[in-house]
Amino acid sequence: MGNNRLLILSVFLAVATYFSNPFFTFENGINKDLVSYWDREISTIKNTCKAGISMPTNVSVNFGETDDAIGYCQKYSNGFKIVLNEQYWYHNLDGSGKRQLLLHEMCHCIFNIKHNSDEKHFMYPEFTKIDENTLLNQLEGTIKSSSNCLR
Ligand SMILES: [Zn+2]
Repeated sequence: MGNNRLLILSVFLAVATYFSNPFFTFENGINKDLVSYWDREISTIKNTCKAGISMPTNVSVNFGETDDAIGYCQKYSNGFKIVLNEQYWYHNLDGSGKRQLLLHEMCHCIFNIKHNSDEKHFMYPEFTKIDENTLLNQLEGTIKSSSNCLR
């Protein structure tokens, strides 16, 4: 009985690896040091999307390798992951900078928002600090027309 179960699990994992389903290749969950930031920005978003947001169940937010970027969003058919540069997060960003970076990646991942060519916009591809009130105004203007923002 116990052995059979183990075998079934092994086969399951082998098949999963074979198809390289991203569900099995990234860690699910929010890094504990990022939970409070994540929760805060989910609340921020819900102020605009008052009827809720359409969110996949398989979500990962973590520090990791970001190459030349300071963060990125990778989407999968069943979820997404946000990866942030830990050094940059702790040494280069103040509180509102952290909000700006996280909201930028959340807009990519949750609302399918693309980059903006205005360098004073929080969806500009390179990070340039924007004051918090402007950030929140830009956020509302950016996500309110997304189909994942229920109003
Ligand atoms: Zn971006």
